[in-house]
Amino acid sequence: MTLRGRLTAAFLAVVLGPVLLGAFFIGSTLTALDRSRATERLGLAAAAARTSVDALCQQLRAAADAVALHADPAGRSAAAEQLVGRGLAAAVTVTDVTGRTTYATAGAPPTPWRDCAGGPAATDGVPALAARVELRDRAGAALGTVAAAQPVDAGFLARLGAATGAGVTLLDGGPGRAARTTEPPDVRDAVLAAAPATVGDRVVETTDGRYVRRVGPSADQPLPLVLSVPGERPPGLWAALAGAVLLAALLAVLVAGRLARVTTRPLVELAGAVDRVARGDLTARVPVRTRDELGRLAGAFNRMARETGTYVAALTSSRDQLRGHLGVLGDTLASTHDLQRILRLILHSAIAATGARAGAVLLLDGGGELVGQCAEGLDGRWLRAEPAALRVPVGAGVLGAVAATGVPRRGRWEPDAASAGEPRCATYVAVPFAAPGGTDPVGRGGADPAGHPPEGGPGGTLGVLALYDRLGGEEFDDDDLGTLRTFAGHAAVAVDNVRVHEEAQRLSLTDPLTGLWNRRYLRESLRREVERASRFGRMLSVLALDLDRFKAVNDTWGHAAGDTVLAEFARRVRGEIREVDLAFRQGGEEFVLLLPETDARGAAIVAERLGAVVRDRPVPVDGQSGAPVPVPVTVSIGIAVYPDHATTGQRVLAAADDALYAAKAAGRDTYRVAEPRPRPLTEEIAVPAGAASPADGLPRAGAAEPGTARSDPAHAAPAPSPGGASSGPHPPRQSRGR
Ligand code: GH3
Ligand code: MG
Ligand code: MG
Repeated sequence: MTLRGRLTAAFLAVVLGPVLLGAFFIGSTLTALDRSRATERLGLAAAAARTSVDALCQQLRAAADAVALHADPAGRSAAAEQLVGRGLAAAVTVTDVTGRTTYATAGAPPTPWRDCAGGPAATDGVPALAARVELRDRAGAALGTVAAAQPVDAGFLARLGAATGAGVTLLDGGPGRAARTTEPPDVRDAVLAAAPATVGDRVVETTDGRYVRRVGPSADQPLPLVLSVPGERPPGLWAALAGAVLLAALLAVLVAGRLARVTTRPLVELAGAVDRVARGDLTARVPVRTRDELGRLAGAFNRMARETGTYVAALTSSRDQLRGHLGVLGDTLASTHDLQRILRLILHSAIAATGARAGAVLLLDGGGELVGQCAEGLDGRWLRAEPAALRVPVGAGVLGAVAATGVPRRGRWEPDAASAGEPRCATYVAVPFAAPGGTDPVGRGGADPAGHPPEGGPGGTLGVLALYDRLGGEEFDDDDLGTLRTFAGHAAVAVDNVRVHEEAQRLSLTDPLTGLWNRRYLRESLRREVERASRFGRMLSVLALDLDRFKAVNDTWGHAAGDTVLAEFARRVRGEIREVDLAFRQGGEEFVLLLPETDARGAAIVAERLGAVVRDRPVPVDGQSGAPVPVPVTVSIGIAVYPDHATTGQRVLAAADDALYAAKAAGRDTYRVAEPRPRPLTEEIAVPAGAASPADGLPRAGAAEPGTARSDPAHAAPAPSPGGASSGPHPPRQSRGR
């Protein structure tokens, strides 16, 4: 059963119960009242009837006495005639002691007469009422009886009815005899039907709503009379009451239905909204129509749904953020060895985790200075500047102190404490990046067993992570500091890993004695540079260098001296080439140079210069006595140019080697350019026009000036052009003086 059904039923029960009870009460009270009034009226009527009959009996008795006063029969008959004539009796009879009638007035009613003094009830009707007196002579002897009678007829009953104010019925008693009555025909039967039930004073109600009681026969009232009065109850009382109850029930059903609908409507709406929310529709709302409990419930539901929606939106956005972070993490994992990218991710994550406005990551460089690596959100002069413009000496200002002591700091900006190079802010937090090992970022020693950076000291500090201006204006708290310390510890491991990897990669590609690239990297570089030259239609010069009679150096001064000469030679070579040029130790005392965008003429200039720089200054080595001894060294160089002398890297190198042998053969301490290769009948590789050699036999590079091969510092580090050697995947660049 629905709530509405239950409410309707409850309302009906509450309303109809009292209505039914009330109706019953009204009905029964009216009935009881009616009965009691009828009983009262019947009592009065009975008393009146008795009085009337009694009065009649006294009148008859007086008449009989008047007749009996006369001693002679003639006087008696004259008196009787006179009394009848005056209407004091209907008939007078005189009987002797034997009971024989000696005199009777004319028109006497038929016998038997009902005696006023009572006696046995007649069984064959009551035609008249009579009073009898003894007739005696003067001596007092009984002569007979004088009876005066009055007929009990319709007139008598009508008079009795008028005197009592009730319907009067005379029960003749005789079977088959119709009772004489004043009742109208339509109620007569009902009264007669109820008459047998009237015993004593008992009042009986007839089927048509009249009340009936019996009066006599008794000692004081000899006639068997039944009196009836109509009930005063409104006709159809019960039907009216039933109708009223029915009407009330109908109205109650209507009102209850409407009331239940109005009452349950907010609940139905609420249930519908709850269903919608359960199905995931958080936009469901309930109209708030009233300020009662239901209105409050609806309001509370709306607030709950709204806040749940807000929470869901926040959760969704944080899930999206998480996805974004996962995407970034995936990117980062894909480039685990890209230091800049990792630092950017570290900074971004730290800013997001602490709600900072800005931040920067600074790493220690070799010169005891913190150098900005990446920055986010910095304004003012840092906004436009490169992160590298952010430089703070170790020990200076806030960041320098953190790097120097390894102790994190947080607080409000103190202009006195800050270094000039630090960004301005309102609040800050700075934690050190500590490598898991000691002071050597690459070293592995010094970490505690858990791999955390050592506490409270600068050991292993790689740099500083600084965040500025917490959103909301509050200071960064200890929780932020703790989070950042842990985070910086993990981040430092990542940074350290990248550095270790870079160093390992560098070591795997460089020659430890000279610091030049090794033979392995030569193969790779040659392939790449030839490919680039081919793609952009540029030239590439390959120089093969071999120290002259180096075996003799070893033999004369020892192997260590030979190593010194090799290292010094490499240093001088590096000093003579541009940054984009690459120098390799191919093995022993043999070296190779790759000069991108350089033709044979430029390469020849470089070769000349290299020969001079080696030749002009003998290399000092430790002599047997310990004193430095200058060892004269010379170098022979072979030059080959792509694409003039060969179309693959290995062939160009072989051509340079051939040229080197030619230089050796020519007496050493000189250079030779490879022989131009014989032109094939069909061109193997289409070389752009700009890469063709001029008529003088020395090929020129398309864009490079010959002078750029000089060791002039002004030309040493040209901006990389699209075809420059600095684009594409590249190992660490060799810097001069390494
Ligand atoms: P040339 O090239 O002028 O024909 O004569 P060379 O004496 O330089 O030629 P050769 O190839 O015969 O000798 C190369 C010598 O270089 C042999 C070896 O003793 C020396 N050598 C090779 N590698 C090293 C090295 O790493 N350190 C030292 N000290 N010597 C090396
Ligand atoms: Mg050699
Ligand atoms: Mg040699």
